Amino acid sequence: MADKKKKEDKKTQAELLQDQLLLKKKTVYDGYAQRAGKKATAYGEKYMAFMNAAKTEREFVRESVKLLEKAGFKPFEPGRAYSAGEKLYFNNRGKSLAAAVIGSAPLSEGINLMAAHVDSPRLDLKPNPLYEESGLGYFKTHYYGGIKKYQWVAMPLAIHGAVMRADGKLVEVVIGEDDKDPVFCVTDILPHLSAKVQDDRKAREVIRGEELNILLGSEPVEDDKISDPVKLNLMRLLNEKYGMVEADFVSAELEVVPALKARWLGLDRSLIGAYAHDDRVCAYTSLTAFAEVNRPERTALLVLADKEETGSDGNTGLASDFLRNFLALLCRGCGQDLELTLYNTRALSADVNAGFDPSFAEVNDRRNCAYLNRGPVLTKYTGARGKSGTNDASAEFVGHVRRLFDAHDLPWQTGELGKVDEGGGGTVAMFLASLGMEVVDIGVPLLSMHAPYEVASKLDIYAMYEAFRAFCK
Ligand code: MN
Ligand code: MN
Repeated sequence: MADKKKKEDKKTQAELLQDQLLLKKKTVYDGYAQRAGKKATAYGEKYMAFMNAAKTEREFVRESVKLLEKAGFKPFEPGRAYSAGEKLYFNNRGKSLAAAVIGSAPLSEGINLMAAHVDSPRLDLKPNPLYEESGLGYFKTHYYGGIKKYQWVAMPLAIHGAVMRADGKLVEVVIGEDDKDPVFCVTDILPHLSAKVQDDRKAREVIRGEELNILLGSEPVEDDKISDPVKLNLMRLLNEKYGMVEADFVSAELEVVPALKARWLGLDRSLIGAYAHDDRVCAYTSLTAFAEVNRPERTALLVLADKEETGSDGNTGLASDFLRNFLALLCRGCGQDLELTLYNTRALSADVNAGFDPSFAEVNDRRNCAYLNRGPVLTKYTGARGKSGTNDASAEFVGHVRRLFDAHDLPWQTGELGKVDEGGGGTVAMFLASLGMEVVDIGVPLLSMHAPYEVASKLDIYAMYEAFRAFCK
């Protein structure tokens, strides 16, 4: 303290003026790490365990329900009047979720809402996926979300999902996660032979959509009369394990994801590498912050949405009326006005942002981009090319959120996703805004976003959790 005082005394007038007037770019290592480092490490361990158990939107919702039930949440009963302190959740078809802790203030005074998405880029199976070619068995796929297709070849893959059989039974599938399980892969052409057919293709075409075929096996059934003996053998194995037949693929949602576990990354273990940080890092931090809420003044609401990566369409996505309908039912039961509730609601659209990558510096405006280890990124607007397709948060609401984080002494930063006219991206913010609520984007900065293995900082993740905790308390 005395040292600090001496340093302050030595500062020139201009230095003092600079401290007072100009923005300082602090990192999480300027005080926050000393305060939160140990807790952030323990939190990171729990986050990785959760990520390894939740590699699809269905699995994430299932694990979230388990966590919420442990914290005292009960399934939502439409039409019932809820009173202050009650905790409820609404599981929307197993793929998205809304949960609330009722506040002491009336709902119509507004809600504190956090919304993240739990779907992530992956390879989905086509409705008629299984085939055999030259003695090898494959699945045809149709990729989900914005992927760089070349990143998904020549690496171990797992198959997750659900199959609705003809007998009306839903069967859960997970192959490739247990160390004793087999894994799968998409093959690539060897460099010795790629000169003519691949080396001159543009990056988007290095691997084409129809080349993302999952290698499943090579052993035939022994019978000369069978035209596709490898395919039949593979179907036999699936039938033994899951009771399914080929026609059942049409009523299945089978998702191919990297067979990789979330792990500490870097010699100093300051980073975490994982499949699907986007957006499960915001989903997990908001979920765990929300699960701790007790007797808030304003009602706290958590939304875990599906379909964000394909534009939020579909009845589990936020372009649908599922959130509005859930809130209408909740308001009606409590004798409250839905429109007023929506108008007075404050929302954080919780989604990841791009962290500055020194290897690709030219895509960012260095004065207006996010960096790893500077805390959660508050993003006033997303979109691209003249702010199209975005919610542009108001000065008043950004001011409210900023004061809140500063009051809790939390690290945070601001940044745009890329240079003007370089590209851009969307989040669920605009769908929340279209309901009339105040909303701003916030999230953890990532490296390699949408790759099979994404990178986030341990301290950014913990600061995100603390920021959500401050918001919904
Ligand atoms: Mn996202
Ligand atoms: Mn995304």
